[in-house]
Amino acid sequence: MATEYSSLFTFFGGTGDLAKRKLYPSLFKLYVRGNLGEHFAVLGTARDSWTDDKFREVVTQSIKDDQPDADMHAAEIFVSHFYYIAHDVTDKAHYAVMKDLVEKLDKQYSINGNRIFYLSMAPRFFGEVALNLKSEGLLSDDGSNRLVIEKPFGTDFSTAETLNKQLSGAFDETQIYRIDHYLGKEMVQNIQALRFGNTFVESLWNNRYIDNVQVTLSEKLGVEDRAGYYDTAGALRDMVQNHIMQIVSQLAMEQPVSFTDADVRVEKIKALRSLRVYSPAEAAKNFIRGQYGANDTEPAYRDEPNVPKDSHNDTFVAGKLLFDNYRWSGVPFYVRTGKRLADKFTRIDVVFKKPLIDIFAFPQNRDNSLAPNVLTIYVEPNSGFSLQLNAKTAGQGFETEPIHLDFQQDVAQKEETPEPYERLLHDTLKGDQTNFASWDEVSYAWKFVDVIQKLWDSETPDFPNYISGSMGPAASDELLQRDHRAWVYRLNR
Ligand code: NAD
Repeated sequence: MATEYSSLFTFFGGTGDLAKRKLYPSLFKLYVRGNLGEHFAVLGTARDSWTDDKFREVVTQSIKDDQPDADMHAAEIFVSHFYYIAHDVTDKAHYAVMKDLVEKLDKQYSINGNRIFYLSMAPRFFGEVALNLKSEGLLSDDGSNRLVIEKPFGTDFSTAETLNKQLSGAFDETQIYRIDHYLGKEMVQNIQALRFGNTFVESLWNNRYIDNVQVTLSEKLGVEDRAGYYDTAGALRDMVQNHIMQIVSQLAMEQPVSFTDADVRVEKIKALRSLRVYSPAEAAKNFIRGQYGANDTEPAYRDEPNVPKDSHNDTFVAGKLLFDNYRWSGVPFYVRTGKRLADKFTRIDVVFKKPLIDIFAFPQNRDNSLAPNVLTIYVEPNSGFSLQLNAKTAGQGFETEPIHLDFQQDVAQKEETPEPYERLLHDTLKGDQTNFASWDEVSYAWKFVDVIQKLWDSETPDFPNYISGSMGPAASDELLQRDHRAWVYRLNR
């Protein structure tokens, strides 16, 4: 039987895109799985002057859009727990009206003072809302108070620090849940099961046996209608500072004492502390950027709606990360991400060292040297693992060829797999912060990224430098070629 949690959810930005597309459908799934029980209520709030009925209609529609086969009778009961209040978050007087409603709903649904405040709105409001929630008495004395923050968390270390100070004025670190939806993905969570649940994996997981690690977050779409935000952020800040750094820290961390949020965080922070922060000269050598140009069917980034014709924004980034610690010294972690690339996928390739001596490379076999073992973690769209091994080809003579041990989640397992937002909402209900970014992690990631961004801001790049549908600029391949390596995933594979 599913464990039930009581909570009053308040969604700021409750009429927005994210709330409709992800948050309400995910909450409904939790309801159907029995995690919400009957002791919950949802308060949507935004500037739009909606009624409760209008709000319930919109939420019902968002469930239908997301889950065409949903049980609509269950959906009807679910949305009867939803209430709406028009509210301008910058107007302190409005919080008194909200407080009355929150207290009424708390009693009506026997919620025992457990409150989740989800900020699904522009980041410039985050600090102000948090402080107002406290000063206007919306935090309960008898239950738990949790604040969920969407990305982006600042635009550099300094703005992130200012925001964090504001949040800390109202909530302590154990109450702040910084969303990074990559941490809600099944196979990102599986990194720890794979590493710490398998003797043969973890005992080889170091610089004696691993040659390099590659992380690719590849998007097929362009900027779509997000230019207003994206043109001020770019791939480095939008993807590397958060998602890639979170994935890399899980790959690099030491084994935690136990699998609890506190112990996992300690190890991730330790890993990030040993990440080498580059000097500007090192950053120039180890990080490259790109911006997509047109192909026959798709426009260049600079010709997308609302993008300035002379934009120098990066839509692609590739880089090399180095950890200065005993486990990883000398092992590069190559990362890349970009828009309008060949395909949409996320994968991690762990490339092992070749055997020190290739005894099969006797003279007549010299052209057929051993391939490295590669452990690939497929994060999306497929979830699975693949291990490349060398085996003897069948037949006469003695030649080797790479073979693959593959595991892919089947359709039934996929259907059972919660969406990232469902999982993260569930974690918030449980009070489990394992899959949320802590302030220390965010701050180390910004300090690393700031050097690169500052360097890039001071130079004018020669953009565009890659064609839509490719795997980024030539400099991305050259970054590895320089080290006598290559990306495992290449277009001709
Ligand atoms: P949106 O523009 O669709 O919605 C913003 C909401 O904020 C609306 O409900 C609007 O009425 C409300 N709002 C604006 N000003 C207000 C004010 N002064 N007082 C009260 N309400 C106000 O934005 P979104 O796409 O839903 O994004 C929300 C947050 O989630 C942002 O932080 C964004 O960066 C983040 N995010 C969104 C997505 C996505 O897929 N949409 C993905 C990742 C992160």
